[in-house]
Amino acid sequence: MSAKNESGPLVYVIQKHRASQLHYDFRLEWNGVLLSWAVPKGPSLDPQIKRLAMATEDHPIEYAKFEGVIPEGEYGGGTVMLWDEGTWEPQQEDVAAALRKGDLKFTLHGEKLKGSWVLVRTRGFGGKTGRSTWLLIKHRDQFASAEDLTQTRPRSVITNRLLADIAREGGGDVSKAATGDARSKSKALPSGAKRQIRRRRAID
Ligand code: MN
Repeated sequence: MSAKNESGPLVYVIQKHRASQLHYDFRLEWNGVLLSWAVPKGPSLDPQIKRLAMATEDHPIEYAKFEGVIPEGEYGGGTVMLWDEGTWEPQQEDVAAALRKGDLKFTLHGEKLKGSWVLVRTRGFGGKTGRSTWLLIKHRDQFASAEDLTQTRPRSVITNRLLADIAREGGGDVSKAATGDARSKSKALPSGAKRQIRRRRAID
């Protein structure tokens, strides 16, 4: 089945969003809207790492171009960075059925994310909100990697700005945005490795 619709290839974007919590909005164009999931930790290229992805409301296609500041007090108030963009192709013929089943396999052609991925619906969490919980997982292929792109490539794919730059230029909350740029301390080494190093130092 063709992965194209009448208007061309299907849009894929990730918007890094420093709202009340930092998260990465993962969006896939389908049936004239952007299907959307909020991924708190962002995507991982490591097939062993499953990233929580909370289904959120569909967004209009035009929103895929947005980078800037959402005023505080409005829904999603904070700073939005276009972190990755490109196109996607479903790997299944019947996307509607795959979404209903909660097992969508697809290929990304982004600037940062490439290759084969899956979104799998799971249980638990979000019951009260009525929003489903999924896991975003990289399939094993030549694009799988231990590299943490959220740390190694933190900038906007269209303007090369950090969140703090976008906030500053958009009249937003710069210090709040900057917390979304900060390197996560726990990412540098797995905690087990840190413990081992500490132990070794204690012995030394
Ligand atoms: Mn968001």
